[in-house]
Amino acid sequence: MDLGIKGRKAIICASSKGLGKACAMTLAKDGVHVFINGRNEEALEKTAQEIRETTGSEVTAVACDVTTVEGREKILAACPEPDILINNAAGPPTGNFRDWDRDTWIKALDSNMLTPIELIKAVVDGMIERKFGRIINITSGAVKAPINVLGLSNGARAGLTGFVAGVSRTTVKDNVTINNLLPGPFETDRIAEVIAGEAKARGISEEEARVGRMAANPAGRFGRPEEFGAACGWLCSANAGFVTGQNILLDGGAFPGVI
Ligand code: NAP
Repeated sequence: MDLGIKGRKAIICASSKGLGKACAMTLAKDGVHVFINGRNEEALEKTAQEIRETTGSEVTAVACDVTTVEGREKILAACPEPDILINNAAGPPTGNFRDWDRDTWIKALDSNMLTPIELIKAVVDGMIERKFGRIINITSGAVKAPINVLGLSNGARAGLTGFVAGVSRTTVKDNVTINNLLPGPFETDRIAEVIAGEAKARGISEEEARVGRMAANPAGRFGRPEEFGAACGWLCSANAGFVTGQNILLDGGAFPGVI
């Protein structure tokens, strides 16, 4: 599918692995210059090379922690006028809310709510002036169906979702859309971490937890990162300018609601 965004510039935060990497690969396949990011420089450079070799597109690797002020400044210095912004960062740890103090909460809010809001603030007015912008926040299916051990994620991402619901209606008339993609279980390093937390909380083995979660999903499996990347590509496409403020769930049908 031609997304109609060849030659555009995209910042994809937290993209040396997993879902962010899949988004970067999809956009690069369509001729977008991608600015990828991760904290581990070696892993990031490896991914940059893989995307270059697979797509022939320009790839700039910006090694830093996106949840810090300095990290965000470094990314924006590399790409001051992005056409596309994909917000992403590691999810917070699993646990019991009784063990979380204020600092734990602030860290989760910084990663999964305030960092995306800061980056939106930094780029949205330029996008409005240039009459093109696509902003996507990678959040979680936990926004619609909270997972108990992921209380920090449930809370922080709900805050971001509320913010986006308001601001996304103010930018769309200038062809700047802001949407959230909500992953259910996808085959990445993160799912292994979540399953380990779930297994511990329920007193079962990790394998049991994994098999159980797959069996409980209507698709009978976890999602593939490239399926996530394809949805991201569509939302970033030239013809997606009438879609804003949406929360699009990719979960194999696990969420049982009608809407
Ligand atoms: P992943 O496979 O663990 O990949 C995370 C990527 O983000 C890595 O490239 C990592 O590289 C980078 N990263 C993490 N924290 C960063 C930071 N502070 N600054 C810069 N880069 C950072 O995770 P994933 O499965 O793609 O998950 C992406 C997001 O979706 C997470 O927020 C996760 O909680 C959420 N999610 C995932 C699933 C799932 O099933 N996979 C389900 C629901 C929600 P470095 O470690 O080198 O920085």
